[in-house]
Amino acid sequence: MTKFTVNFLNQLFPEFSGDIREELKIQEIYTDSRVSVTQGLFVPIIGERFNGHDFVLQAIDKGAVAVIWQKDQPLPENKPNNIPFFLVNDSLMALQELAQAYRNKINPTVIGITGSNGKTTTKEIISSSLKPFYQVSKTEGNLNNLIGMPLSILAMPQNTEVLVLEMGMNQFGEIARLSEIAQPDIAVITNIGESHIEYLGSRKGISQAKLEIIEGMKTSGLVILDGDEPLLDVSLTQQMITCGFGYELDYVVSQVEQHDDQTTFMINEMPVSIPLLGRHQAKNSAYALAVGRAFEVPEGEMVQTLADLTLPGMRFEQIETESGAVMINDAYNASATSMKASIDVIKNMKQQSKVLVLGDIFELGDHLETEHRKVGTSIDSDITALITIGEASRHIHEGLSDDFTGYKTHVESNADANSLIKPYLKSDSVILFKASRGMQLEKIIDELMN
Ligand code: ATP
Ligand code: MG
Repeated sequence: MTKFTVNFLNQLFPEFSGDIREELKIQEIYTDSRVSVTQGLFVPIIGERFNGHDFVLQAIDKGAVAVIWQKDQPLPENKPNNIPFFLVNDSLMALQELAQAYRNKINPTVIGITGSNGKTTTKEIISSSLKPFYQVSKTEGNLNNLIGMPLSILAMPQNTEVLVLEMGMNQFGEIARLSEIAQPDIAVITNIGESHIEYLGSRKGISQAKLEIIEGMKTSGLVILDGDEPLLDVSLTQQMITCGFGYELDYVVSQVEQHDDQTTFMINEMPVSIPLLGRHQAKNSAYALAVGRAFEVPEGEMVQTLADLTLPGMRFEQIETESGAVMINDAYNASATSMKASIDVIKNMKQQSKVLVLGDIFELGDHLETEHRKVGTSIDSDITALITIGEASRHIHEGLSDDFTGYKTHVESNADANSLIKPYLKSDSVILFKASRGMQLEKIIDELMN
């Protein structure tokens, strides 16, 4: 599907090298020269290890019909003349400007989602619940940074009515910039945890960084946030809706009950059930309901679509083994908050034997020991066994609740964990795998499945 014609590019970036055919249409905007595209606009990004400009000829081989080019980079000698190279000062900035211009051209209602945990999940819940009623486009996967979010905007089809964007960060200023580009009509702040505390100093710093999401919003916008978080008890010019477990909030989540394959709860006076496990998912559903209200979708219909949700992989993905054990692949990422949330879900599962396979949480800086210890406080008599893997995760043991009497051990590598987990692969066992992405705990699951 065509996104725009070359004229649209030319208006934004007047300087170019090569020929422009007026009728040239762009269908895909991308940064990875290895992928095959149709009518692609290649945007070379200069990263820490690679310079995209070095791969422009490959990109053209794979289907690029136009290129953004950072002026300080030498043009390739054998550059084909029939491919226009738009010359810019900074290719990453150009990608962001293009995304902003495309957002304004299509002008959908934009929902921006930030927070320490639960962005992707909440994005999925919100987009699936609006899908029956609107043309919805959303961030694919986790493309939430200053490269990924612009690409997500540029991936939306022209007929998009609602654009749901995930916004991530690890430094001050990033959410502000993302917000400037995306100009959300509705912002959701899912929670404040401790991810990236290394760069942001404190939870207060983290909350300020998330609140930057209002910087690109109009005063007529709507901000939906975690009402249980005192650091988000702020006054804004935008309309605010609070969601959470506290009594005085706009959307009060109560009577949360976790069953085998669903969680049931009340949101205000409305009974809701979702095929996801855990209290935090109940809260994420409240955000979706608040968004639905803003779109005037009847609440009964929202509740119906919430009941039919499915989520992408590695987020509390349940895998049943031949032995009848259930392995839970939650190895997509981790912070102390999300690890504790997942442990709470495990505790409420029906299986007798509850095993935790936990790895290191990254990017904690000075807080490394305290955050890992904090995870330990959730591990009590409900848990049968704790296997930690890596370096930092050994500190989880230091925080263990006094009444935890189960088996516990620490190993340094995934390879060492395998044989320790095997004895627990029996019916009536549930085994949680969770760590930061780089620990690759999913590889243990793969091996155990074979
Ligand atoms: P990333 O920063 O890696 O993109 P994310 O914010 O997109 O993370 P998700 O991938 O949705 O987060 O979920 C990460 C973890 O956070 C999951 O393990 C989930 O159990 C937990 N989680 C989800 N929602 C919440 C919430 N509202 N509060 C606390 N934990 C949550
Ligand atoms: Mg995410």
